Amino acid sequence: MGSTILSLLKESESRLLAVDSPRLSAEVLVAEVLGCSRLTLVGDREREVDDRDLERIRELVGRRATGEPLAYILGRKEFYGLDFMVTPDTLIPRPETEHIIEAVEEHFPRDSRFRFADLGTGSGILAVTLAHLFTGSKGVAVDLSPGALNVAEKNALAHGVADRVEFRLGDFTERLFPDDSLDLIVSNPPYVPQQEFDEASREVVDFEPVTALVSGADGLDHIRAMLPRVTDALKTGGLFMMEIGYRQAEGVVRIITDYLSEYKEIQVLKDLAEHDRIVLLRK
Ligand code: GLN
Repeated sequence: MGSTILSLLKESESRLLAVDSPRLSAEVLVAEVLGCSRLTLVGDREREVDDRDLERIRELVGRRATGEPLAYILGRKEFYGLDFMVTPDTLIPRPETEHIIEAVEEHFPRDSRFRFADLGTGSGILAVTLAHLFTGSKGVAVDLSPGALNVAEKNALAHGVADRVEFRLGDFTERLFPDDSLDLIVSNPPYVPQQEFDEASREVVDFEPVTALVSGADGLDHIRAMLPRVTDALKTGGLFMMEIGYRQAEGVVRIITDYLSEYKEIQVLKDLAEHDRIVLLRK
């Protein structure tokens, strides 16, 4: 006798006891292979699964059992209501980063025309989401990883914004933009202190790109490198919004102090967990 959806869910769950949310992982992977939604699995639980699907499900569950994150197994992750392709070349989008988009929405009406840059774009979530929401915007997205840029370009194509987002290979210490040329710069740079990364969960350490996460001993190397360039490139009145680690507001504000004469406004915004998460500067 073959396996039913129910027996397969039980088998998968039992192989996933060592990872977070075994039941959820099992349901997501079974639904993915069967091409249905998680919710329909329960109603369909006595259905038999054919051998080809069975083999594929067992293979994906095996990957998940090693700790590989679901987003890499599925090859996608949702961000701000859009589906993004992700690969091991890119960080998996985190919900905290959505606060940058929310902050942009508070400052720019949907029909405004503006030029922006996204520094360290990774899978392109910030640049592509901005271009998608603000159809009068044009942006440049920078990353030093060719693999990540390749993914970001695919995401721009998938969301119909490839004509308004230019992708550039580069690092933050280079002068990437003409002075006073940008209305908005966004960034979710690497900001994890080396030691904190070494102590992070295996799912992060073993699978996510270290170059997208770690930024020196205090996690602030990238912001130190980025700030002079950002300050030059922003127009007067332009905004810079950057994600930070929840214990970094003080350190970041100290770095900004050197540029204080250039900025009219500094704000630290909190995430849903009430942690400091976004630094906003107005030139
Ligand atoms: N929030 C991420 C983490 O804790 C870090 C993201 C980043 O460095 N930009 O893994």
